[in-house]
Amino acid sequence: MRILITGGAGFIGSHLADRVLSEGHTVVVVDNLITGSLDNIRHLMGRPDFTFIQQDISEPYTLEGELQAILHFASPASPIDYLKLPIETLRVGAMGTYHTLEIARQKGARLLLASTSEVYGDPLVHPQPEGYYGNVSSTGPRSCYDEAKRYAEAMVMAFQRTHGIDTRIVRIFNTFGERMRLEDGRVVPNFVAQAIRQEPLTVYGDGEQTRSFCYVSDLVEGVLRLLMLPRSGESPNPTNIGNPNEMTILQFAHVVNAITDNPAGIVFKNQDRIQDDPQTRRPDISRARQLLNWEPQVSLHEGLERTIRYFEKRIKV
Ligand code: UDP
Repeated sequence: MRILITGGAGFIGSHLADRVLSEGHTVVVVDNLITGSLDNIRHLMGRPDFTFIQQDISEPYTLEGELQAILHFASPASPIDYLKLPIETLRVGAMGTYHTLEIARQKGARLLLASTSEVYGDPLVHPQPEGYYGNVSSTGPRSCYDEAKRYAEAMVMAFQRTHGIDTRIVRIFNTFGERMRLEDGRVVPNFVAQAIRQEPLTVYGDGEQTRSFCYVSDLVEGVLRLLMLPRSGESPNPTNIGNPNEMTILQFAHVVNAITDNPAGIVFKNQDRIQDDPQTRRPDISRARQLLNWEPQVSLHEGLERTIRYFEKRIKV
């Protein structure tokens, strides 16, 4: 297959590129590098089965040649990034998704949209099944991301219903691993960098808010199973992919400090907690289990050790 990956120079997009290339597919990455980095795909440059195009997909774009599938992953995705880039985030969720769906329609390609657990907002149902409609502020600081992804989901469904194109929607829960940006502000790079520097870990609020962390190779496996699922009567849209192993942020801080032997402990930073920060988050992955026969394989401990090794090489202690 020839596969377009929007946002393919980003954290998850670049892991997807590696994986599908290793399976013999041809990859075109389109990325404007607003939060992605050439460092994530430099090792692929020059391969005959790989093309990189620097392009903002929020503007109309075209692509030469045939195409069988699109992995639509372009978007700022960390809270710090999308708070800095709210208009770009809304534009790529809306216009970027529209332009990419147009390409899917022209080429007859299957399109998989990277959506997010943020569509559930600060959830009132726990854990979150796909049938839950969410508890989302349309005006709060996170709305630029949450509403962009909700709009993107609606646009994907409209193209599927109107033009009959084959679409997949994955709702991605917290994912971590190599190639996360050190400065993207998310809890994993923040805690790991602080621990490597033997600084106290900055816990926002009281640390009682929960998350469940999925290692990137597990996420990639789930996404590709969803992409490759044969088209059948039952629509797989949307499907949650994430790790149901839930913990409080305080517990997570203790795990990171234990693995790294960080003697500096933790510090509570109440003022840094972002408004509308979800209090709980855990995926209900029954659908992924049943449809894709998928569940996470990599433990938090193992995933963190690999991530720590990656960040150690990039941090001057
Ligand atoms: N968080 C924290 N300290 C940090 C960064 C984040 O306590 O240095 C908290 C944040 O308030 C949130 C959780 O960790 O409750 C996960 O935040 P992240 O930015 O990784 O992504 P989110 O899951 O909110 O999209």
